[in-house]
Amino acid sequence: MRILVTGAAGFLGSNLTDRLLALGHNVIGVDNYATGEHENIAHLDGNPHFKFLQHDITETFDPGHIDAIYNMASPASPPEYLRLAIETLRVGSIGVENTLKLAEKYNANYLHASTSECYGDPLEHPQRESYWGNVNPVGPRSVYDESKRFAEAMVMAYHRSRGVNTHLVRIFNTYGPRLHPSDGRVISNFIMQALKGEPITIYGDGTQTRSFCYVDDLIDGILLLAASDEHYPVNIGNPGEFTILECAEEVLKMTGSKSELVFAPLPEDDPTRRKPDITKAKELLGWEPHIKLHEGLERCLPYFKEMMEAGH
Ligand code: NAD
Ligand code: UDP
Repeated sequence: MRILVTGAAGFLGSNLTDRLLALGHNVIGVDNYATGEHENIAHLDGNPHFKFLQHDITETFDPGHIDAIYNMASPASPPEYLRLAIETLRVGSIGVENTLKLAEKYNANYLHASTSECYGDPLEHPQRESYWGNVNPVGPRSVYDESKRFAEAMVMAYHRSRGVNTHLVRIFNTYGPRLHPSDGRVISNFIMQALKGEPITIYGDGTQTRSFCYVDDLIDGILLLAASDEHYPVNIGNPGEFTILECAEEVLKMTGSKSELVFAPLPEDDPTRRKPDITKAKELLGWEPHIKLHEGLERCLPYFKEMMEAGH
């Protein structure tokens, strides 16, 4: 197949691209380097099955005939989407529609990377796909949350009104190699701080929870969903739930670091808890994650050490 991956120079997009190439597909990667880096796809320079287009998807483009689209483009780290507030709203609205139009034109299968942030600070726990969420529509995080909720509505409308074969994956916190060492997300922050012997920054009192999925497990789920007949959102994530303090302890144990914990203010509207109910993915796709947090952290340690040696 000839497959378009937007956000291909980012953490998930580049890992997905590698997997699609390994499966024998041809990939056209699109990215404007808003938060991604050429470094993540540099190993594909000269690969005849990979073409790269440096382009902002909020501007129309046409890569020619494509069989499938994975729309991964969007800033994803809180500090980055706060910095790129308007760009985030535009990529989740105009950018999403531009890619849906391509799917319509070429009758291409379409998968959109949505997020657990659609649930906001959830009042239901764990979160099932049927939960409508608890989102502040005007707080700082709204640039991300509302762009992602709008995107889901847009994707469903192109499915219902234009017959596009769409899929919505609600991704829960995912980590692994190519997570940017300084984009501010918790796993990359903690590992880099531990490796450098710097203080581990706990926001708030560290009792808020997240559920962390290793990138390879996530990509297995995404590929199964894209091949399915399901059009409504499906949670893909690891239900193993950790407080942020527990997460810091795991990182300290794994790295053998003596870094101390320091406490910093909790960002506004930071969700107090998050854990996917993955019953739907299990029943529909036969999918469940296999890699536990301590194993996943060990797997990505060499990458973060390399980043540190490279001066990050
Ligand atoms: P990332 O920041 O590493 O990658 C996003 C990529 O999109 C970057 O390479 C960036 O340059 C590109 N991009 C942004 N705006 C663009 C535009 N207008 N045109 C072209 N390219 C653009 O983030 P990630 O973690 O790889 O996230 C990928 C997708 O998955 C995002 O849509 C994100 O919302 C979603 N997601 C990720 C997680 C996670 O834990 N990693 C969780 C939920 C949802
Ligand atoms: N966090 C933290 N220290 C950091 C970075 C993040 O305590 O250095 C917390 C953050 O406040 C949130 C959780 O870790 O409660 C996950 O943050 P992240 O930015 O990775 O993703 P989110 O799930 O908030 O989108």
